[in-house]
Amino acid sequence: MPPAALNSPAPQDLWQMDHRHSLHPWTNFGSFQREGALVITKGEGCWLWDAEGRRYLDAVGGLWCTNIGLGRREMAQAIAEQAERLAFSNTFVDMANDPSARLAAKLAALAPGDLNRVMFTTGGSTAVDTAVRMVAYVQSCLGQPSKTGIVARDHSYHGSTYLSQSVGKRPGDRVPEFRYKEDGIWHLTPPNPYRRPSGMTETEFRDWLVDEFETLIATVGADRIGGFIAEPIQASGGVIVPPDGYLHAMWQVCQRHGILFIADEVVTAFGRLGHWFASRDLFDVQPDIICTAKGLTSGYIPLGAMIFSDRLWSIMEQDPDRWFTAGFTYSGHPVACAAALKNIEIMEREDLLTNATRMGALFQSRLKRLEDLPLVGQVRGRGLMLCTENVADKATREPLPDGVNESKRISNAAEAMGLMVRPMAHLNVMSPPLTITEDEVDFIATTLEKAIRQVTDELVREGHR
Ligand code: PMP
Repeated sequence: MPPAALNSPAPQDLWQMDHRHSLHPWTNFGSFQREGALVITKGEGCWLWDAEGRRYLDAVGGLWCTNIGLGRREMAQAIAEQAERLAFSNTFVDMANDPSARLAAKLAALAPGDLNRVMFTTGGSTAVDTAVRMVAYVQSCLGQPSKTGIVARDHSYHGSTYLSQSVGKRPGDRVPEFRYKEDGIWHLTPPNPYRRPSGMTETEFRDWLVDEFETLIATVGADRIGGFIAEPIQASGGVIVPPDGYLHAMWQVCQRHGILFIADEVVTAFGRLGHWFASRDLFDVQPDIICTAKGLTSGYIPLGAMIFSDRLWSIMEQDPDRWFTAGFTYSGHPVACAAALKNIEIMEREDLLTNATRMGALFQSRLKRLEDLPLVGQVRGRGLMLCTENVADKATREPLPDGVNESKRISNAAEAMGLMVRPMAHLNVMSPPLTITEDEVDFIATTLEKAIRQVTDELVREGHR
């Protein structure tokens, strides 16, 4: 018999079980020892309930992923029906299943241009990992076996496998114990207009960034660079919205040098920015490969996808004796694909992309007012992907010392008021479900303002301001 606590654990027992046995992604051992984790037991729409029954508006949207909102019965039914009919069948070599075939066709219809080919993965990291390997494969099929290097940007996050974390480069993630791959990977300056060199206009900054890319290619040699990977808006690296025309210009550089463009749309797709995919609709880029995950199933179940062009397919299939040796047991998992199909059906039926655009504009204008607060240097973002950036000095844009931890304190204060926002470096980040209402937007903006004011008062008392 299992111990009673395992059958119907009390909130404190759940907390203990987690505290004693879990290693959480990106665990900070100090704060975990002190505070442990908040155990969530229920979700509905934009709202979460913890084990004690307290309710929170989840402005984080899970992790940029609960796009259609939580607690949808028809999602649960679609998942249950598929699990009963065919819980698993692999998609290796020459096997397929009906949801994976239907979803591949649906993604091809939604993706821009000739992106008509799909390889399913288990999430975003594995989609990026696969895309980086596909770049090398395609370039080698083109008779350019040395053209395998990847150019990325500092402050990017592309996942947590060895390869995806090697192409990503968020400052705090580069702990010396993990020797990430450095050979054949180069990182450019992040296109963050708020942190551009003083005296430069945004347009000059954009041109400088593009020149930096051209200079790197000239130095390294185009024959060694096979791909460029970019999130249209850098998400976890700081909700970095690039200067106008930046992404398009970087794409043109890629085209000039035979460099494949990988758009990491793990966050920016499936309505987060009001479009199925942001690269072409918002940034005028036709990628060779799109990596996506998260909003693909709205987090109901894990799934990722690498969507790539007919052109790449035709290059790869020219040599019928070769194998593209990548893939996962759960690539094209029928239950995950059935969930994605239902998720997309709901987004279409409820026109959630339009709601995301409308609510995104409202949200941004409501949050923009927080720039009047002494702590908030900038409010930025696009669609339903927004953040506030805290600074010590608004004129110089100098950040607060790291030890102050103001963004974590703001998120803790907000949490005590029933709102979840995500602390990241000196930012508080928000990416709520696309179903968000005006009242909910209002609640977030009002509550966040209260939390920032509360923490600002504390910082003044502590002599930090
Ligand atoms: N790319 C981007 C832009 C992401 O934000 C993330 C996750 N936050 C990933 C890749 C990795 O996705 P996953 O955690 O599903 O592996």
